[in-house]
Amino acid sequence: MIDVQAVSKRYGQTVALDPTSIACEAGSTTALIGPSGCGKSTLLRVVAGLVIPDSGTVSLAGETLTAQNSERLRQNLGYVIQDGGLFPHLSARDNVTLLARYLKQSPVAIDRRVTELGELVQIPATALARFPRQLSGGQRQRVGLMRALMNDPPIVLLDEPLGALDPITRSELQTQLKAIFAGLGKTVILVTHDMGEAAYLAGRIALMRDGRIVQRGSLQALLDEP
Ligand code: ADP
Ligand code: ADP
Repeated sequence: MIDVQAVSKRYGQTVALDPTSIACEAGSTTALIGPSGCGKSTLLRVVAGLVIPDSGTVSLAGETLTAQNSERLRQNLGYVIQDGGLFPHLSARDNVTLLARYLKQSPVAIDRRVTELGELVQIPATALARFPRQLSGGQRQRVGLMRALMNDPPIVLLDEPLGALDPITRSELQTQLKAIFAGLGKTVILVTHDMGEAAYLAGRIALMRDGRIVQRGSLQALLDEP
């Protein structure tokens, strides 16, 4: 479903991605883990078509991402960042429905989908009327997840989605994310620097260091390595 072949990216002298590759099967959850600055976010942005690599290719569902098709292919993925990445001047609900309204989906279908997603991420309808700054961190993150899932994309990319949360909210959302990933059959890449979170949420773990994936496998396989 996601195939990254030998992508590299530099920012001036900084090597963010040394040629690195990763493939994710449909329906799998992969955790990208590694120290700050090792290139996790850059790799995720390359997959999302938000950063153009200096070399290498990204294919989503068998189609190679190019400057021409990136806008269309991006509709196949939901992207969630720390603290939800919501537009501050829009209500939570308007954040969630922005793209659907732009795509001229029917108001009835949009309402139905918002209700369904609200139940899925367990956020009360009253909270959806508020602006992002009026919500708790956990609620902002739930809204960010709703927005990412709104158009039912096959791929979901999460960049430290729980990084800004207190431990209790964090573990609550971990439980919900696990249920959501298992139930919806999405192909997921999750960036985290929490090994426990990676092991709990992801079937496969990719360890990054200095712009490359240095090891891949199940947690057990990684622990068994000498
Ligand atoms: P991580 O997500 O693992 O913390 P990043 O992918 O954010 O790592 O960053 C990898 C390296 O690239 C870091 O050295 C970072 O400072 C640098 N970098 C990332 N984005 C930019 C940018 N827009 N401009 C300049 N340097 C960047
Ligand atoms: P993360 O590591 O979680 O991606 P950062 O705080 O490193 O978050 O980066 C936040 C934003 O700043 C990103 O858009 C990233 O591309 C950009 N960025 C990161 N490092 C640099 C840098 N050295 N110079 C310029 N922009 C950077």
